[in-house]
Amino acid sequence: MNQPVRAPGIPIPFIDLAAQRRRLGRAVDDAIARVNDHCQFIGGPEVAQFEADLARFCGARYAVGCASGTDALLLVLMARGIGPGDAVICPAFTFCATAEVVVLAGATPVFADVIEDTFNLDAASVKRAVLTARRHGLKPKAVIPVDLFGLPADHDAIAEVAKAEGLYVLDDAAQSFGATYMGRKLGALAPATATSFFPAKPLGCYGDGGAVLTDDEELVSLLKSLRVHGQGADKYDNVRIGMTSRLDTIQAAVLIEKLKIFPDEIEARERIARRYAQGLDGVAGIPSVPDGLTSVWAQYTIRLKPSLRDGLALKLKAEGIPTAVYYPKPLHRLEAYKRFPVVDNGIPVTDRLAGEVISLPMHPYLDAPTQDRVIQAVRAALIS
Ligand SMILES: *Cc1c(COP(=O)(O)O)cnc(C)c1O
Repeated sequence: MNQPVRAPGIPIPFIDLAAQRRRLGRAVDDAIARVNDHCQFIGGPEVAQFEADLARFCGARYAVGCASGTDALLLVLMARGIGPGDAVICPAFTFCATAEVVVLAGATPVFADVIEDTFNLDAASVKRAVLTARRHGLKPKAVIPVDLFGLPADHDAIAEVAKAEGLYVLDDAAQSFGATYMGRKLGALAPATATSFFPAKPLGCYGDGGAVLTDDEELVSLLKSLRVHGQGADKYDNVRIGMTSRLDTIQAAVLIEKLKIFPDEIEARERIARRYAQGLDGVAGIPSVPDGLTSVWAQYTIRLKPSLRDGLALKLKAEGIPTAVYYPKPLHRLEAYKRFPVVDNGIPVTDRLAGEVISLPMHPYLDAPTQDRVIQAVRAALIS
């Protein structure tokens, strides 16, 4: 391995947004300045342009911008009229927002298990969760597969179960926009896909933002109404209960510029993931990508014996290398969510993964010498 260029112990970032800003140069500053000049901070021309760019990028017919990834999920549930008495099946191994929106909509999340090798929703567990929902007197209405850590879920298998059980599929691609499944990008797969532009996501803005991708024209008109207080013919003709959830013009302007370099960043992430795999295979459980899929590597998450995890994190921290555990507690074990039903035969895979996973620094600007420092530190900590 190469000699590290930085002295050991100098802290490195987990995600380096400053490096991305240096690469973007004046493009983003100029884009923001143009918005400052025209002053259309809400609904400015950049919003429609970004929506068109985003839809074209992923091959969906429409993109509808909104205020966050959480709102993108919630707006779709609202548009579908999902509410009290309805069940929405979610993986238990995800960020809380996936299930939070179900509760906000008045419906009940039912937690299903994930697949060991991909961390993503298990279609067989979804099928069982439908029975669990019915046993609780709920009407199973939808499933929210999550494309965790950048990797698409098993969309064909989930679509098959959804079709058989009459479930609407709302894809949570907050961590994985840009990833592909059998040659198609997320956003063009499910009837509706939600994504997030939170700064740390693969395609992030400079604040909060989100979008829904879909081919469904009727859904688009509902979403556009719901994101502005349920507006009808105009803003003061309110025909349904909605919310305030627009994508700010400045964020759209930032995203237009960032989308231009996104394909290049995805390639860099792939190269960095391959280098981690080469350096860590045999030392820790490295992530696998099923045939026909690509990941955008929102996280590079390895697996260890639970007894080794805290020690590894401490040793890396002492060397200035940050790590993170996504997610130490699965949703069904969180205070706010433990009252909701869990699929009848339990969630053993999720429970096991929560004890084993740890994520390493991952972003498109992680240079080879710095990455080698991470790899060497992990190897030194685990091979003793
Ligand atoms: C980040 C995230 C969200 C929410 O996105 P925000 O833009 O932060 O609201 C939803 N689901 C998953 C899986 C996420 O990682």
